Amino acid sequence: NIGAAAEEMHYKAYVVGGFVRDLLMEKDNYDIDIVIEGDGAKFAVNYAKKHNAKVFVHKKFKTAVVSFDDGFKIDFATARTEYYVTPAAAPEVVESSVKSDLFRRDFTINAMAVRLDGAQFGLLLDFFMGQKDILDKKIRVLHSLSFVDDPSRAYRAIRFAVRFGFEIGSHTDRLIKHAESLDLFSRIIGQRQFLELKYILAEDGYLFALQLMNKYNMLRFYSTKIKYDDELINKFKRSEHLLNWYKIQFEEDIEVWRMRFNILFFPEKGENFISLIDKFELSSKEASILKDDHKYMEYAVSLFKRYKDHKPSFIYGVCSNLSVESALALAAVMGESKQDIIKDYLTEYKNVKIDLSGQDLIEAGIPKGPEIKKALDVLLKAKLDGIVNTKEDELLFIKN
Ligand code: ATP
Repeated sequence: NIGAAAEEMHYKAYVVGGFVRDLLMEKDNYDIDIVIEGDGAKFAVNYAKKHNAKVFVHKKFKTAVVSFDDGFKIDFATARTEYYVTPAAAPEVVESSVKSDLFRRDFTINAMAVRLDGAQFGLLLDFFMGQKDILDKKIRVLHSLSFVDDPSRAYRAIRFAVRFGFEIGSHTDRLIKHAESLDLFSRIIGQRQFLELKYILAEDGYLFALQLMNKYNMLRFYSTKIKYDDELINKFKRSEHLLNWYKIQFEEDIEVWRMRFNILFFPEKGENFISLIDKFELSSKEASILKDDHKYMEYAVSLFKRYKDHKPSFIYGVCSNLSVESALALAAVMGESKQDIIKDYLTEYKNVKIDLSGQDLIEAGIPKGPEIKKALDVLLKAKLDGIVNTKEDELLFIKN
């Protein structure tokens, strides 16, 4: 029905990019990108009105997102050509035909479109041999200046290569090496740099992606402390076992990219890690999650090294500020010897609660104020170490 709506407005409509790629590869894809030859934003507003959906318009880029009540979304754009005024800067946008819109895209496999309006409904537009590259399992850019226009495409090339088990074409491979030698990757803005890494770390094949980034000497743009060696590979392998263990225990999903990020950047110490995160220019919420994860991992490692007596209350004190993602990362970086301790923390100690309430303590004669918190802490420690077990034990313990 997008096609019919386009006909009414005398526009041409196409579904483009990842959706077409995944359609040809028979993979599910629920991200629908529509390109309109005409005013894409105006089209989206009309389309949303017809279907009682919400629309958000981005005037400058002539794009819009239409969201339906069930959460389903469609992205609409105006067919455009982009001019890069300076390399790696935001492009200037002008209206254009679908062919030049496709020409500004990253790889041949992502640069195909299917016509949605009129008699030509279903026609596949493949100007750059995307179908052939799917069959040949190749990631290829459309022209030699592709990485000059947008160096972040090199990280995308790696991501798609590992996701589909494709090879990076030989010309594209040379262009990535050339871009690296020209230091083009250092021009990628922080947020983009972060997102590309996050997407890579969310892929099942992330380890192979890191190997490719290492081969192209691209890890240095994140941190010179990251060494892709057997030690790092072993940490990641351990983390995968831990992750499987966690999923079986708790049947809940965690942010795997975050666990992997914590492992990858653990060699960066304190202040250096903080300035590295600041360069990504993330929201203050995201930045503080990453900084806290790192800080509490460092804290735990130093305490585990300093003290040898690992009573449950000690382990609780060391681990209680860790997120699940950083606890699993910690277990992976500390090696076999500490894994069971962290597993015990996650399965047992983390959930220990005392039975007495603050009110119970007041009734038992503890004065209101900070004394209550102190008493609760002491009780929790005693419970963790098995000194008290029942509510009666707790009451006796506190009275003494
Ligand atoms: P995914 O399955 O990871 O979402 P996708 O191909 O849908 O893959 P998006 O990042 O959503 O990836 O991009 C949608 C489309 O926009 C791509 O298929 C590609 O045609 C184009 N595109 C995205 N990023 C770039 C880029 N940096 N340079 C050129 N074209 C891009």
